[in-house]
Formats: sequence, structure tokens, C-alpha cells
Amino acid sequence: MVSGAPTVVATIKPVHSLVAGVMEGVGEPVLLVRGGASPHHFSLRPSAARALRRAPLVIWVGAELESFLVKPLATLAVNARVVELAAAEGVGKLPARRGGSWQRTLPEKQSRGPHNMHVWLSPPNAKAMVRAIVAALASVDGANAAAYRANGTRLDARLDELEHELRGKLAPIAHRPYLVFHDAYPYFEAHFGLNAVGALMDNQERRPGARRIRALQVKIRALRAACVFAEPQFQPQLVRAVAEGSRARTGVLDPLGADLPAGPELYFTLMRNMAKALVSCLSP
Ligand SMILES: [Zn+2]
Repeated sequence: MVSGAPTVVATIKPVHSLVAGVMEGVGEPVLLVRGGASPHHFSLRPSAARALRRAPLVIWVGAELESFLVKPLATLAVNARVVELAAAEGVGKLPARRGGSWQRTLPEKQSRGPHNMHVWLSPPNAKAMVRAIVAALASVDGANAAAYRANGTRLDARLDELEHELRGKLAPIAHRPYLVFHDAYPYFEAHFGLNAVGALMDNQERRPGARRIRALQVKIRALRAACVFAEPQFQPQLVRAVAEGSRARTGVLDPLGADLPAGPELYFTLMRNMAKALVSCLSP
């Protein structure tokens, strides 16, 4: 590691992974939301607050996702350049869906109003995020700009390969209906043309009550949903309850890489694991 690399703070693991890829050979970014913690419900540790105070660059998805960071950014990171990846050029945004029950995936388009903030789960968005990360790093650390640009070019090519690989794997199961735990995957669904039909949690991320579980059970049978997906940090018994009385299988999707070691490879492993989980649960 070259000494003098700036303290760069990244919020969630997939974002940290792309930043780590751009900084490879120069330095390592600080990860705020560690382990299996969810950005929807998170509070800052003292060590993270210290990192924010001295960081010239903070990279996050945006206030609608990491709402825990709005106040610390205003009070602690006053001298930092803050990059909001959801607002970066070329990052496509989808509107937030209501109610947790949908007929078909949404078209990919820009829109006003509340957005679904899980923007990192599509390769084109990841490529646009990498471009924004390269530009931000080059501007706060000009001495290493060439290294950041070279890493960015390499990442861009790897993301193209990943996109191609996943498209091939997912095509055979793209039409099969399934339910997810929370509405974290619309970018993945839209990009690969998948057929998610609903989420267990509603858009306020509240866990379903008995009545909603019954409604979901009816929906699974009516649509012949093939799979119901849990997430690592949530209770699997809820997913089993929803799948009960149907032929739906259960699987696990991990949109954050909760169980993966943080670092440059995390993003690629996370995306491959999602495709693998979908293919294994949805194949006839
Ligand atoms: Zn989420």
C-alpha cells in the first residue's frame, strides 16, 4: 500500500467493494455498515464517527437508503467531499413500489418521487458508479489518479463479463414467478427480465402480520410461485410460513453480501451468488 492514500469512507459492503476495486494497490476504504447489518436500521460506531471526521471523501448511495448518515454527514464530515451514487450520472433509478405485491417488473426509467435505492444490483448501474468513484478519487487524490483510472477500466471490463455470464445463466428461469423478502431487487429483475411477483415485507419494511401472510399464501398458490426467498439477516420461519401449503421452495438471496468478506471481490461474488440462488430454486 502506498503511504498517503486518503481516508475514504464507503457505507455498505457492495459500494465499499467497488471503491476497494478502484483503490486496489493504493489503499483500502473504510467500511461503515459491517457484517450482516442492514442500512435500513443502523447506528454509527465511535470509530466510524472518527473516520468520518478525517475523511476527505465519503461515498454513499443516498439519503433514502442510509438515512442514519444524514446527520453525521452534516455534523462530522463537514470537510469531506460527499458522493451520492444514486444521483451519479448514468445510474438508472426506479420508483419505489407500493404494497409489496406486483404483477410484473417495472420498466427501467428515470422518475420523480421516492425511489427504490438498491441501485447497485444491476451491472450497468455498477459501471456508472465505478465511473463516479474514479472521478471522485482522482479529484481528491490527484497523485494516484492514473492508478484509479486503470483500476476503473479493468472493473468496467469485468462488469461487462459478469453481465454476460449472468444473462446466460438466468435466461432459462427468467419467466418463473417468485417472491422476495424485501423489495431490494427491482434493478436486478428489470435488467435480467426476471418475474418477481411480490415481497413479504411491505415498502415500510414492516414484517407481515397473520392476515398478510394468508394473502401471500393465496397469491403464491394462484400464481404458482416457484420459490420464496429469505435474506440472511431475517427470520427464515417467516418465509416457511408463507410458503406453507404450496409447492413453492424456499431459498436465500443476499443483496448486501452480509456473509461475504468485504473487499474488491465481494460485488462479483454477491451478484454470482444471487444468480446461483435464483437458478437453483427456480429450475424445474
Ligand atoms: Zn433494502
